[in-house]
Amino acid sequence: MDPERSRRYLGAMGVQVWRLRAADGDTQGLGQGPEEVPPPVHQGDSMASESAGPSNVEVEPPPEAAPDVLPTAGVAGMDWERLSETVAACRACELCETRTQTVFGVGNRRADLMIVGEAPGADEDRQGEPFVGRAGQLLNLMLAAIGFEREQVFIANILKCRPPGNRDPRPEETLRCEPYLMRQIALVRPRVLLSVGRISAQKLLKTDDPIGKLRGRWFAFGPDEIPLTVTYHPAYLLRSPEQKSKAWQDLLKVTRRLRETAGDPGAGVAG
Ligand code: URA
Repeated sequence: MDPERSRRYLGAMGVQVWRLRAADGDTQGLGQGPEEVPPPVHQGDSMASESAGPSNVEVEPPPEAAPDVLPTAGVAGMDWERLSETVAACRACELCETRTQTVFGVGNRRADLMIVGEAPGADEDRQGEPFVGRAGQLLNLMLAAIGFEREQVFIANILKCRPPGNRDPRPEETLRCEPYLMRQIALVRPRVLLSVGRISAQKLLKTDDPIGKLRGRWFAFGPDEIPLTVTYHPAYLLRSPEQKSKAWQDLLKVTRRLRETAGDPGAGVAG
């Protein structure tokens, strides 16, 4: 992309660009040195499973409580229309009681790059679209800095409903919502998945590792072994702007991977 344009967006993000460097293979020309890409870590495809459901049947379920069968079973075969209808009507966990509306996801359904965040916040719950608040504005700038309009990528969350008070997603909520995201990923088939934030990364990769240990690496996600990398959540970057340069390095990794795999639908994460 146009380095000047990239510099403008980086400036708006608050990332200081120190110098131009022409001959280090960094076509962004933004002074980030060559990166070392660690060997891929293969993640199991257990997230694709829809079979896990509660084994006990409640005799007297409380009104509006999560039902005793997993209503998200069958999601794996759905097309976009069925999937979005199913999400909109979902009552698989108690978040349906407090949400204003579900937040399905937005963007290019054939995107090369798919972003996965954590869960809708208050703004997203109100508007029905992911990443529309302050963090979303920074995400837009981060995308623009690597040459993407928001509309060119697909953006979704681990959870489709807002946890009250923006608390962390609970394991039961993640489990019940998981098939929706897995189906979205399978339908989009992005060339790169970018997980933003600790919760997104830990849930996708089924690990408790801290984000500092997860970012900067490539993982092979799911049965299609989609290259997945992790960066800081834009909301965290708003609180800790000194970390923005690391996020920028992560974004450069993404652009590099996209370049490397351009026109190579079978490209995995090796190298
Ligand atoms: N944070 C997220 O992780 N997702 C959103 O949609 C909004 C804020």
